[in-house]
Amino acid sequence: MKNIFHSFLGLFFPDLCVVCRDRLIDAEQHICTDCLLLLPKTNFHLQPDNRLEQLFAGRIPFERAAAFAYFIKGGSLQQIIHELKYKQNPDIGYFMGKLSGDNIKGSDFISSVDLLVPVPLHPKRQRERGYNQSLKICEGLSAITGIPVNTETLVRTVNNPSQTKNSRFDRWTNVEDIFSLADRDTFGNKHILLVDDVITTGSTIESCAKEILKSDESKISIFAIGTAN
Ligand SMILES: [Zn+2]
Repeated sequence: MKNIFHSFLGLFFPDLCVVCRDRLIDAEQHICTDCLLLLPKTNFHLQPDNRLEQLFAGRIPFERAAAFAYFIKGGSLQQIIHELKYKQNPDIGYFMGKLSGDNIKGSDFISSVDLLVPVPLHPKRQRERGYNQSLKICEGLSAITGIPVNTETLVRTVNNPSQTKNSRFDRWTNVEDIFSLADRDTFGNKHILLVDDVITTGSTIESCAKEILKSDESKISIFAIGTAN
């Protein structure tokens, strides 16, 4: 019955691919098969010392870093991330998480990870958007890998809306101390996969990682849906 209703609605409001805006066929969700095949995957999870690992080298101790696809200006991933962050479409975050999970499952990159932790949004921003996009990505990753998600331990303390206007150095200083740990036990002796939507300078990840690593014997890896080419 639900399907009939959905098909009926589809006559008036067909589901469109978020990238090319073509009509989706029945089995497709959010992104059409052609656009999925054209996504510029990095396969960084199979490449130690990839460009993202070079970005974090010397800044924080970490195990591995990877991103699902390249974020190219005007490219398909930019449209997907825009849909996720500004078009009230949390489902596409879950979908991209599952897609990434399929990409990295069974690899050394993910096999020793104990917990998935999304970069926390400030509660005010989360109220405005209605969801944390990085949590949606984690939920999709979790659905494929079976690794649990933790949102209670790493928390955000200060809102910082002017962050993007500043230079890299200012951004680095601004994101210092905006995250904190609710307790230092949960992440102890655990390998945490810290998850963000897109990594550019890496300053947010760096500041989250410094907090997580205050827990005894914790290790971190880093994952995002997109990273600059
Ligand atoms: Zn398409």
